[in-house]
Amino acid sequence: MHHCKLFHHHKRLYMKIPTEPIGSIPRPKYLLDAMAAFAKSEIKQEELSILFNKALVETIIEFEATGSPVITDGEQNKPSFATYPIAGLQTLAPDGVIIPFADGHTRQLPKLTAGPFKYQAHASSYLKTAKSITALPVKQAVISVSALSLLYPQEGIDGYTQEQFIDDLLNEAEKDIRDCLNAGAYNVQVDFTEARLAIKLDPSKGLLKAFIDLNNRVLNRFSVEERKRIGVHTCPGGDHDSTHSADISYTELLPYLFELNASNFYLEYAAEKDKQTVLQAIKETAKPTHKIFIGVTDVLDPQVETAEQVKDLILEAAEVIPLERLGTTDDCGFSPFADDTSTSRQTAFAKIRARIEGTLLAEKALTKTHFSIAG
Ligand SMILES: [Zn+2]
Repeated sequence: MHHCKLFHHHKRLYMKIPTEPIGSIPRPKYLLDAMAAFAKSEIKQEELSILFNKALVETIIEFEATGSPVITDGEQNKPSFATYPIAGLQTLAPDGVIIPFADGHTRQLPKLTAGPFKYQAHASSYLKTAKSITALPVKQAVISVSALSLLYPQEGIDGYTQEQFIDDLLNEAEKDIRDCLNAGAYNVQVDFTEARLAIKLDPSKGLLKAFIDLNNRVLNRFSVEERKRIGVHTCPGGDHDSTHSADISYTELLPYLFELNASNFYLEYAAEKDKQTVLQAIKETAKPTHKIFIGVTDVLDPQVETAEQVKDLILEAAEVIPLERLGTTDDCGFSPFADDTSTSRQTAFAKIRARIEGTLLAEKALTKTHFSIAG
């Protein structure tokens, strides 16, 4: 009898910790070569499409093999996490906003030269293809409106005001999310990787607040029920194993970030140096309805975490963040820009396996704790 009673406690107190990837997986070399050849008109669209599909199928098979309960398409068919809506758009000039990274390299956004602004591709197109290949739940990432708002040039566009542009942009971004929800996305993640960068560019936080307001103008178009499947990812930017805003503290960002009308927050965390301060900032500023997915694998560090290390990170966080609101993720995508080859596919999938095994170990450890208290 006694044994059964204990077993009952054990079952009841078992905590499932949700774990999800961010998005991108490094593209295979043959695909990168083909993308470069296509850009130089050396191969046709049909040849490239075949290789896009090959890479997608291979990525999904490898993702499934990690045991990940939720997967992505690895963004194999996206040119980058930020530019998929504008790839092929004719009304662009190359000399837009420049984003400097800590190691000295830069990424430059294009700028818009004429309206009206229309997405060339919506994220649901990637989602539908992925869902035709796997039976597992598929998460879909979309780019934030705040990032794309940077496309409008400082000097303005004749006959197309910034207001008109923002109206078009908000409608397209809403469609980007809504189509994914309707197509059966497990959930949708808005990539808001310019949040900390905004504080770096404007320490008064005026730019950050403007970004938050703009993103909320999209999020507010969804019902409370729909928003349960909408999340936001933030990080200091990961590209070629460098960052653009890691020197900006989370304590500066989080009170504003948690004003976003989303349910799930995917926070870069494993690479943070002062984790206790981050945890306290989360505790003090997140809302009771928020699910907090902490990054437990450092995507910029070539060293693959052990499952034990991941478990320890989670146990430490679970002392501060209520367990029913805690989840795990990777710090960022493994290759947000297609041409970023700083991390191998093998390393990316090994880190994902460490995240999943470590999360399971943490579940077991936390269950044991509850078990001994109950017993
Ligand atoms: Zn990121």
